[in-house]
Amino acid sequence: MAGSDFNVAIVGAGIGGLGLAIGLSHLNIPFTIYEAAPAFSAVGAGVGLGPNALRSMDLIDHRFRDMYMNIATGNLRPEKKHVMMEAMRMEEGLGEGESWWGNGGWGASYFERTGAHRKDLLDIMTSFIDRGNVRFNVRVKEMKQNGGTVLLEFDNGEVANHAVVVGCDGVKGFSRSVVLGERYPDCVEPKYADRYVYRTIVSMEDAKEIVGDLATDAKMYIAKGANFSTYPISEGRAVNVVAFKEDKTQWTAPDTTYEVSKEQMLADFEEFRIDSRLKRLLDRAQPVRWGVFHHPETPTYYNSQICLLGDVAHAGGPHQGGGAGQCLEDALILSRVLGKLFKSTPDDILTKPSPLRTELIEAAFEAYDEIRRPRAQKQVLTSEECGNIYILKGQGVGDDMSKVLENLNSRFEWIWLHDLEGDVRKVEERWDEIVGDSRFQSNLNGKI
Ligand SMILES: Cc1cc2nc3c(=O)[nH]c(=O)nc-3n(C[C@H](O)[C@H](O)[C@H](O)COP(=O)(O)OP(=O)(O)OC[C@H]3O[C@@H](n4cnc5c(N)ncnc54)[C@H](O)[C@@H]3O)c2cc1C
Repeated sequence: MAGSDFNVAIVGAGIGGLGLAIGLSHLNIPFTIYEAAPAFSAVGAGVGLGPNALRSMDLIDHRFRDMYMNIATGNLRPEKKHVMMEAMRMEEGLGEGESWWGNGGWGASYFERTGAHRKDLLDIMTSFIDRGNVRFNVRVKEMKQNGGTVLLEFDNGEVANHAVVVGCDGVKGFSRSVVLGERYPDCVEPKYADRYVYRTIVSMEDAKEIVGDLATDAKMYIAKGANFSTYPISEGRAVNVVAFKEDKTQWTAPDTTYEVSKEQMLADFEEFRIDSRLKRLLDRAQPVRWGVFHHPETPTYYNSQICLLGDVAHAGGPHQGGGAGQCLEDALILSRVLGKLFKSTPDDILTKPSPLRTELIEAAFEAYDEIRRPRAQKQVLTSEECGNIYILKGQGVGDDMSKVLENLNSRFEWIWLHDLEGDVRKVEERWDEIVGDSRFQSNLNGKI
């Protein structure tokens, strides 16, 4: 059993970093979170989580799922319980009276819609974490691997040494350049996914006044080149609204967001003959364009003692409602394999830098990469396809509504029904297999 000076550095306190911290806490593995912001914070928006995300929570720490279920909001009408979203048109009239009207949902009998305000999710996650393990106002600006440890340098001049560093620093995170820069320089920068969004949260009372009963359940309003999603959050007291606009131009802004005028925002949807009710909902949004960026290609998730988790590894467009779920799956698998490393390695090896310790850490990351990367990267690519379906430009689907619905009803099962217990088993077995190799065993003298 390892001593206390084996400490995992978690860079970034978003859903990914916090999920990992909960997993490590549960296994009594020491960690320190380094967060650039002055406090835990979440954007004022909703997040939807599918069955795989809920099962990850359960396996990370079953209290986590129970707490989430207490704040989660589903569709308000019981007959829509198993519906992820329901298609409507964005144009005037919303498609009412068309053949699919009233039957345009997708989901599954085992699927139960849940969504939450990000602030509520954050409050739950941070309640698991001892504040003594968190450093705010520290931005990592350098990571150097040297002599069996990783030296972190912060923008305030401080430094820290860690045996294991996990970059959870989001889609534009610095750690990506450290892991991929030398070997795969073309894969470091996130790619613009030809979309920007406007977001807002509207009170249920106002939303009902504007769109009537359509406000109570998750809806996807679609048009050729734009889509608009709405779903209830905060125990049905509010509605999360995201308006997507396809944009084939280059993203030139230095940041991932920039402000436009309200007129420009509204004009963005004029070409779709947007229904006047949706226009009123949109009118509530801040006229800020949030660019959607993704990482369609990530050839590896680790480089020696530094590893990537969450959006910095596999940011994808938000079309399948799957990004946060993938963060939680990463957190589950990485915490379990680090648990294996921590519990099976003798103190004298784990707590002192040595080539052998580096190899054992690499073995854990190799196992994590093998289990997580194919699935998470598939989510990135299929999310892009899904986004195209929502704007009626899906390959082989186009604007044929029956094909749109057929596709949407068949594309989520591999995400939602995945065998996560199996992944936990596999990552632990893979660790055993790698460490059982003669290369290790001759140095370990049978100690593991
Ligand atoms: C419009 C939109 C809607 C979405 N909807 C859904 C949904 O419904 N369901 C779903 O599952 N997913 C959804 N997602 C995706 C989901 O939000 C993300 O996958 C997830 O939040 C990513 O979490 P993260 O922890 O990896 O990164 P982030 O949340 O970006 O956190 C990164 C953290 O790292 C910190 N940081 C960055 N650099 C440094 C540094 N150098 N040093 C120290 N700290 C640093 C940042 O301050 C931040 O706190 C959506 C995404 C978008 C854009």
